[in-house]
Formats: sequence, structure tokens, C-alpha cells
Amino acid sequence: SLHNMVQDLKGNIRVYCRIRPAFNAEAKTAIDFIGEDGSLVVIDPLKSWKEGRKIFQFNRVFGPSAAQEDVFRDTKPLVRSVMDGYNVCIFAYGQTGSGKTYTMSGPGGGSIKEFGINQLALNDLFILSDERKDIMSYKIHVQMVEIYNEQIHDLLADDSLLTKYPFTELFLSLHQISSCMSGNGLPLPDASMHPVNCATDVIELMKLGDLNRAVGCTAMNNRSSRSHSVLTVHVHGEDTSGNIIHSCLHLVDLAGSERVDKSEVTGDSLKEAQHINKSLSCLGDVITALAQKNSHIPYRNSKLTLLLQNSLGGHAKTLMFAHVSPEGDSFGETISTLKFAQRVS
Ligand code: ADP
Ligand code: MG
Repeated sequence: SLHNMVQDLKGNIRVYCRIRPAFNAEAKTAIDFIGEDGSLVVIDPLKSWKEGRKIFQFNRVFGPSAAQEDVFRDTKPLVRSVMDGYNVCIFAYGQTGSGKTYTMSGPGGGSIKEFGINQLALNDLFILSDERKDIMSYKIHVQMVEIYNEQIHDLLADDSLLTKYPFTELFLSLHQISSCMSGNGLPLPDASMHPVNCATDVIELMKLGDLNRAVGCTAMNNRSSRSHSVLTVHVHGEDTSGNIIHSCLHLVDLAGSERVDKSEVTGDSLKEAQHINKSLSCLGDVITALAQKNSHIPYRNSKLTLLLQNSLGGHAKTLMFAHVSPEGDSFGETISTLKFAQRVS
């Protein structure tokens, strides 16, 4: 059908931009205009209106007043795709402080208004599983890893959790966490796989993963902004005729994309910065190659793209939220985020 052809031409990659509210209402803004059609005009506060304007185009732009639900709305069909057997990746990209974690995890309150994409997507996933229970039986497992300096760490390894947090013993027995081999999707046989029965199970596991991530390196502050976290939800479904589907939803909170001035950092910080720059640019290269339908897709150039290889390209669907800060001071980083996002869209 025509609809399918249009879908084909556009590919399975969607890029959204989200602008967080300004911390200081008096600060100069870099945002000039947000269009209903996905256009965004930014302005360099140090230049004239005529010379400092730059125009970008995305699938959609969410302004500072967009609610979590609005941001989630277009993600809903992707959750359905996962339950139908498609692999899906959702990325949060942007400089540190631009709102990546806010979008994915929410501000941390308990009301639905405060839920992030993670919780909203998981809620839908389990609602669908329940709605279809007469025709389809689903088993859902999760893995959560961090990529730091091109090394992959299991954030939910039973041993490390037990030794670091004795109180999790109760949690572990409650949820009957078991390790099993990854059959499909994440090529990570060593990362622990955890069966889950509801969205809350997953959110609790993610909290543990975040704790583990923070403790992983006590000397380094704000480790979470220097590493990528990848939560993978494995969906295994079997219908009444015995047909099986196996798919994954990856929820990825990327490391901060800010450029680090080489003259200002040395040693570990420089190494971190170089690893982050390299893996983010590899991600950009892979998505761009997919969007251009190139025959060679450079998955092997970074751990992140290697990890997500089965879920990027082919029939898989990719959604990226590019986050920007509205402040004029961030103009340089904002431009580099928007250029990255425009390149992959
Ligand atoms: P990042 O994960 O990109 O480093 P955060 O998500 O931690 O950034 O956001 C930085 C700060 O801005 C946090 O205090 C967060 O609560 C706030 N913030 C981000 N986005 C929004 C938003 N859309 N609405 C309200 N506050 C936000
Ligand atoms: Mg964050």
C-alpha cells in the first residue's frame, strides 16, 4: 500500500527533539521558534538575529512545557511493535543536564504525570500482555548493563548486588531472580537475565542497577553521565498454534555528549571523554548508514553498536530523543546535538 511505501521511504528511524525548561527565566535563550511540523529555529545569543539563526527539522520538537505523556505518545506504537515481534531501540541523547534521565526515568515521583518513558512503555507492555493472554502467552525478562570506557558491566549481577547491598537479599528472593543464558537479542551470555511480571518489577530492578552503577566507581563523581546505560527487555511470546516470537526493547540513557576541552582534562577524564566521543560518533555513523540504506553498516566500531546490532536496522525500529538546554550559554552544545540528531534523521 501507499502507506507502507511511505513508511519504507522514511525508514524505521524517528528523531525527536526535546527542550527542557530554563533553570533561570532571566537567562538569554537560544530557542527562537518551535514549529508544529518538527522545525526548530535556534539563535546564537552572541550574534545578530539575521546571522545567528539556524534552522533544523525533526519528526517533532517538544518544547519546555511538553508533558511526559505528550513525549511518550508517539512511542506507544513502538511498544506494540515489540509485542508483535519487532526489536526496538529508544535512545536519550544530549549534553549532561539537558534532560535525558528526566525523559527516560522521570523526575522520580510516584504519580503517572511523573513517569518517564521507561515506566510508561513498560506499563503498556504488560497491559498488552494481559489483554492478549487468551491468544498469546508472554514471558518477559530484563538485563541491564552499563558501557563505561568501552567495557560492559552487568548492573544486575546477583553476586555484586548481594555483596554490596545485603538488603537486596529479600528483594532477590521475592522476585526469584535467576540467571539464564541469553537466547536472542543481546549478545551477552554473561549478563544476568531477570524474569519480571509487571512494570514495577522492572523499575525496582532499574533502581538497583542505578545504585550499582553509582557505586561502581566511587572516586569518579557523576559516573552516570560518563557511561551509557542499556536496559533490555526480552519478550518471548507463544500463540495458541505454537508460533513463537522473540524480540527486545532497549531503553538507552546515553553518556553526556558534551565536548571536553582536551587542554583542560588529563588522565582518566580524558580517556573517558575520548571513549564517549568515539562511541557516540559510532552510533551516529551506524544510524546514518542505516538511514541512507548503505550496504555496509559499521556496527563493529563500538561496544554500544555491537551490543545493539540485532536491534538497529533490518525490521527494527529506532527512536532518538535529542535533548537540548534552552540557555544561550549552551548554544555550542545545542548546535552540536542538533547537528548530530539531524544527521541521523
Ligand atoms: P541529564 O540526564 O541529561 O544529565 P537530567 O535529566 O538529570 O539531565 O536533567 C537535569 C535537570 O533538569 C534535572 O534537575 C531535571 O529534573 C531537570 N529537567 C530536565 N528536563 C526537564 C523537564 N522536561 N521538565 C522539568 N525539569 C526538567
Ligand atoms: Mg542523566
